[in-house]
Amino acid sequence: MIPITIFKDQTIAVFGLGGSGIATLEALAAGGAKVLAFDDNEASREKAAAVAGVEIVDLREADWSSVAALVLAPGVPLTHPKPHWSVELAKEAGVEIIGDIELFCRQRHEDGQDCPFIAITGTNGKSTTTALVTHLLREAGMDVQMGGNIGTPILALEPFAAERIYVIEVSSYQIDLAPGIDPSIGLLLNISADHLDRHGDLTNYARIKARLVGASEMAVVGLDDRLTANIASQLRLKGRAVVTISGFGNERAMMAAPDGVLQSMEGDFLFNLDQARALRGTHNAQNAAAAVSVVRQLDVPPAVLSRGLISFGGLEHRMEEVGAKDGLLFINDSKATNADAASRALNSFRSIYWIAGGLAKEGGIETLVDYFDRIEHAYLIGDAAEAFAETLGKKGVTLSQCGYMDVALARAVEDAKESDNAGKERVILLSPACASFDQFPNFMRRGDAFREAVQTYLESGSVPVDPAHGG
Ligand code: ADP
Repeated sequence: MIPITIFKDQTIAVFGLGGSGIATLEALAAGGAKVLAFDDNEASREKAAAVAGVEIVDLREADWSSVAALVLAPGVPLTHPKPHWSVELAKEAGVEIIGDIELFCRQRHEDGQDCPFIAITGTNGKSTTTALVTHLLREAGMDVQMGGNIGTPILALEPFAAERIYVIEVSSYQIDLAPGIDPSIGLLLNISADHLDRHGDLTNYARIKARLVGASEMAVVGLDDRLTANIASQLRLKGRAVVTISGFGNERAMMAAPDGVLQSMEGDFLFNLDQARALRGTHNAQNAAAAVSVVRQLDVPPAVLSRGLISFGGLEHRMEEVGAKDGLLFINDSKATNADAASRALNSFRSIYWIAGGLAKEGGIETLVDYFDRIEHAYLIGDAAEAFAETLGKKGVTLSQCGYMDVALARAVEDAKESDNAGKERVILLSPACASFDQFPNFMRRGDAFREAVQTYLESGSVPVDPAHGG
């Protein structure tokens, strides 16, 4: 845990007591602050009450004149659709509103100045790139703490120590609550329309994302979309240090990947991404270009970078390779909960036996038409199955209504084994283009179920099917 001492003997209100909220309470209490905590949810309040030195107080009844700051959890609305009541109260009392990343940044000025702080944001690819940067640095033998939006709350990481590097995934909500964010290296991957319910409009969303690189000592910025490229230009105009990156062959980018070959403009780094099995597709080329550019700032030699790119295992549920046998390759892309995300997997393989469906998202799979010629057969499950069948059927894609994932997997394996495609890699792909909630608690559980069934098949030669699913 990183004790926060900058508010020693002052009163701090904390609202939102999930994982990062609890870590915040512990860090503030350890640093000697007087902590008042609250959450609208009773179970969360009870959990927080167990933290030593923390008082659970309904903040509607608190004396705000003595409160130095309100620390808000990133999930609590700050501005849109409308400010949470605790935000209104803090504003009325003239109390500043910040988040755990801001606490980290201010504390770093006190006792972590020698610790590089790498902050990573973007609409897509944040987690993959955060994990890759961490992996590359560890490959170089460096002492790395990884956290933030990717999992471990930032204040639950190990405390500042000489040469310790912090690699932190930062969401737009977290940037919104970190007015003083000043990383050693800030990375902005890309910007596309997302989370607009919380940020008003695209211009505001882009403005928030830009803040992450606005005060960084070194900025690494993507050129593959207009909004992000504009931010790179503005930083340059202000005379800031910027490294530009592209997942394509953009000639202006200082690190780009024409035809899947990652290369620096200066010619001192060259790597064929075909060798990195966990980094398939142009979206991952962008993530790789970004991660390599970040890590090069810390003087990691090219040979170590290449070795790390090859050994990177990727993240679970994102085009995760879960096994291969008899010319069949099994890919778990359960994180693809909408058509846009599924397009990346479909674009990364040929000869696909596609397991799709679940709880449908608006727009269906009309936008995936360009990839249909890669699909050998589709195996449809869940609520969206009928609608997907209509779209696929109109374009002549053969399909089976399977109801459930185990049935879909069993049929896909049977068909792929029998296909006359021998010699060519056939890919059994779970990339649902749907939410999971009709049949699973979340996308992780859906991916775990797929992985386990594949493992059973690899060991026993048959896919387990629940008799209740009708086989
Ligand atoms: P995030 O943490 O930003 O949600 P992840 O690394 O978890 O991103 O990737 C989630 C999904 O987003 C992936 O499964 C893939 O479909 C897509 N994706 C990953 N990287 C990129 C990228 N650079 N550009 C666009 N889409 C991406």
